[in-house]
Amino acid sequence: MAETEKQLGEFGFAGDDHVVPFEVSTLDARGRIVQLGPILDTILARHDYPEPVARLLAEAMALTVLLGTSLKFDGKFILQTRSDGPVDMLVADFATPQSLRAYARFDEEKLAEAVEAGKASPGELLGTGVLALTIDQGAWMQRYQGIVQLDSTSLEDAARTYFRQSEQIPTEVRLSVARQMVRGEDGSLLEGWRAGGLLAQFLPDSSERLRLPDLPGGDGDEGDAPDPTDDAWAEVQALVGTVEADELLDPTVGAERLLYRLFHEHGVRVFDGTPVADDCSCSREKIRSILDGFSADEIEESTQDGVIHVSCEFCSKDYTFDPSEFVADE
Ligand SMILES: [Zn+2]
Repeated sequence: MAETEKQLGEFGFAGDDHVVPFEVSTLDARGRIVQLGPILDTILARHDYPEPVARLLAEAMALTVLLGTSLKFDGKFILQTRSDGPVDMLVADFATPQSLRAYARFDEEKLAEAVEAGKASPGELLGTGVLALTIDQGAWMQRYQGIVQLDSTSLEDAARTYFRQSEQIPTEVRLSVARQMVRGEDGSLLEGWRAGGLLAQFLPDSSERLRLPDLPGGDGDEGDAPDPTDDAWAEVQALVGTVEADELLDPTVGAERLLYRLFHEHGVRVFDGTPVADDCSCSREKIRSILDGFSADEIEESTQDGVIHVSCEFCSKDYTFDPSEFVADE
């Protein structure tokens, strides 16, 4: 990524579906901000998820692109939940340089009950379980996985916990999702999904300042401020705390203008944005290699009306195979 030293106002806004890195060096803070628009509609429309599930998955996608675009080498960032709530699995992954895909698994009955009972917040939809964040940078780099316990926990809180426990970096995360009226290319008004995400981290050059009381090996209590004596980080937290949920995803505000509102007194540098694209890495060859590992019985069980149909869980693309391709060696 080319670093530029443009000041706000000197260049155009990145617009939707671009992750914009920024730095506030006077506060030793760095981060990324994103507003997702069309990409959400494209991905969510394929699955026709009920609204609360779509909202939760949109939040997971915003978090995934904020975290995934930090990869410094080619690789993949995977966010996955496994939990006992109405939405028992969420998967969102980001592959460098820009590919995003995601899907959710949910129980229709449990979901209807949760909505009926007014218990359908994102945290409640997940319930109790785990969030796993995995960085996979290929065969030559060690795969890294951080696990966070979920207990009706929002993805925002889970992400903060992840950074405190696994990375030991004081981090603020804000996520916001809404269904809004947006103007289509022909000028007509359409209802569309929007998400906004902001990640800010305290990354001072001096390791002394990064060594904060609760880290490492601290008790990791929820809500502990990293260090009440560090005014710079306290200022970042206070400013990020002023961001309104609708401001975070408002296209008329935009990512850069929001950064300007928050940090202009401290001097904020904004770098070139990274576009994110709806792009699934599934292929006929990958699915064939899975089927190659099936036993003759499993192939028979998978065959309906003389063919094997496989639908990609991420992008819903259908693949059809002739079972005779997979006759096991007897
Ligand atoms: Zn696919």
